[in-house]
Formats: sequence, structure tokens, C-alpha cells
Amino acid sequence: MQFPIFKTKIKGRSETFNLTNPKDQKKYFQLKAGKDIGKLKNFLRKNTFVAYLLGKKNSGKGTYAKMLAELAGPEKIEHFSIGDMIREIDAEMADRKKKKELVAYLQKNYRGRFSIDQVLQLLEKRSTKTLLPTELILALVKREMEKRKKKTLFIDGFPRDMDQINFSLFFRDLIGHRDDPDIFVLINVPEQVINERIKWRRICPVCKTSRNLKLLPTFKIGYKEKTKEFFLICDNPKCKNVEMVGKEGDELGIGPIKGRLRTDQKLMEQAFSLYGIPKILLRNSVPVAKAENYVDDYEITPEYYFEWDKKKKKVKIKGKPWIFLDDDGTPSYSLLAQPVVVALIKQLVEVLEI
Ligand SMILES: [Zn+2]
Repeated sequence: MQFPIFKTKIKGRSETFNLTNPKDQKKYFQLKAGKDIGKLKNFLRKNTFVAYLLGKKNSGKGTYAKMLAELAGPEKIEHFSIGDMIREIDAEMADRKKKKELVAYLQKNYRGRFSIDQVLQLLEKRSTKTLLPTELILALVKREMEKRKKKTLFIDGFPRDMDQINFSLFFRDLIGHRDDPDIFVLINVPEQVINERIKWRRICPVCKTSRNLKLLPTFKIGYKEKTKEFFLICDNPKCKNVEMVGKEGDELGIGPIKGRLRTDQKLMEQAFSLYGIPKILLRNSVPVAKAENYVDDYEITPEYYFEWDKKKKKVKIKGKPWIFLDDDGTPSYSLLAQPVVVALIKQLVEVLEI
């Protein structure tokens, strides 16, 4: 399974952008994909499509889909997470009226190996280890898609196993979205990148925003003189300078999810080998030796580190190039989300023939 390197570098354009700055980001997208964003917006005025996001856990599926939605029309595109859908069902089950509606829908639309009572029990007692039966997921996804008829969907978390891949191929026909194009979006992120994303992940205890001490820090950094530790301070003014914290177990990186990553890899290979359904290939990393020809320096994820200025009692934020070995052992850089979204936009325009 080879993911081509996507060229976002434009010959003769030497301006640089700070992609963490919203104004700069806007100018950046205008330069690199302005025309194609226009085409996509135009298409979405009257049309929709369904995209299945396939990538390893923590590969940034949601980030890419949400950034695209913001550019091409937040009211037209929705990132639809199966995990969120299941969590919302917990709330429905706790509300008598809503539960009744859910049961009525399932009675009409669910077909499978379990009785409705068994299905409800599965929903109530589910654990993160066991997957819900595919037939149930199908009925639930169908229900959500019916609620969002006029929207383009980026579905995240389905298909989740080999069985579901086959269903996804016919899903659009099953639910009567016959004219909607459907697309697999495959995302390739080296495991080293996923590892660092988990290890240095910090979450705001108030607003739950997730950042990264090494790869995506906040604007304000705190320092504890006693333990000589730096920490992130949430940028959200509502959070009143709260310290962002790591989750227990995150320090182990990809260790505990190795099995899951292997399954995700197999799933992507399976999807990659299928004929008939268009595929978009997104690649997070670029070999160091090739970077200069394909991407601009400011599109590459730096590694941040901090220094404590004793005299001024201030933290200095510093960055340096971050080089790691990709899954083939090639020294590589990791791209920021923006250039990957440029690749997504350009391939969408091609696949949709607009
Ligand atoms: Zn916060």
C-alpha cells in the first residue's frame, strides 16, 4: 500500500505563513487551494456526498474533516463520529420518551441475530472491548443519516471491521442515497507520530480541548520551579488559565493500542484493494530527503521545547525540526494538518469531477 507524496509547494512563491494564526491560515488556503475550495463550495450548494474516513486510531480523522468543513461550509458538511453517536444513545436511553422513539425505530429498521430486548441490553452493557453487532450499527447509522439528508457526511468509525467494509460498499444504495457519490478517504500516519501524539497529549480539565506539549502547544506555557516541569495553559479565556493535564496511561504511547493499530492497518489495506469505489489517499509524513521539492518549511510540524528565563521569570518557547523514522524506517517529517487538507480538497475535486 503506497501513499504518494502530495506536492503542495508552488514554484516561485516564497512567502511564508504561520499556520497557527487564523488570518495567515486563511491566506494560505487561498493561495494553495482557493480555486478548488470555490469549486467545492459550488458543488455543495446543490449536491452531497458520503466519505468514509479510514485511518489508524489517533490519525487525525476528525481534525481533517472539521477543517475541511470550516473551509467549504460548516452548514453543508458534517463530521459524523460513530463513537459520539453511541455515546449519545446513552443519554437517549436515560430519557423515557427518547428511549421509546429509539425502540420504535429499531423495531421498524433493525434486522439481525438479536431480539430488540437483547439489543437494548447490548447498548446498556456495552464495553470498549466488544464491538456492537454490525446489523445494529447499520440501523443506527441509517437513522442518523436520515436526520441529515441534505448534508455531506464524513463518517468516522465505520467501517470498523472487515464485515462492515462490505456493507459500506452498498450502504448508499441501502439507505436510498442513490445519487450521492461515496468515497473512501484513507489516511496514512506513521506509528511514531501517533506514539508522540498520545505520549505528550494534554487535555483541558474544563473545556476538554486537546493539545500536545511537544507538537501542538498552547500560547501560554507554565513552569513549576520546584519540579522543573513545563505545562500547557488552556488558551480558552473561559477556562481562566487552567493547567492542561495528561490522561493516565498516555505516557505509554501506542503500547496499549498496538492490537487495534494492527487491525486498523488491515482494514485500510482491505479498503485500498477494492475496485469500483473512488479512493482519496492522504499522507501525513514526507521523507526528509524529498521534503524540499514537495512542501514548504512552514507546512512541517516542528518539535517544541521550552526554556525558563530565571531573571525575567518567563518561559521561552522554542522550535526545532522534528525528524523521526516512518513505518519503513525512513527519516521523515510530519506535516501540519493544513497541507493534508489541501491534498484532501484537490483530490475531492478530482474524484467528484467538478
Ligand atoms: Zn479549556
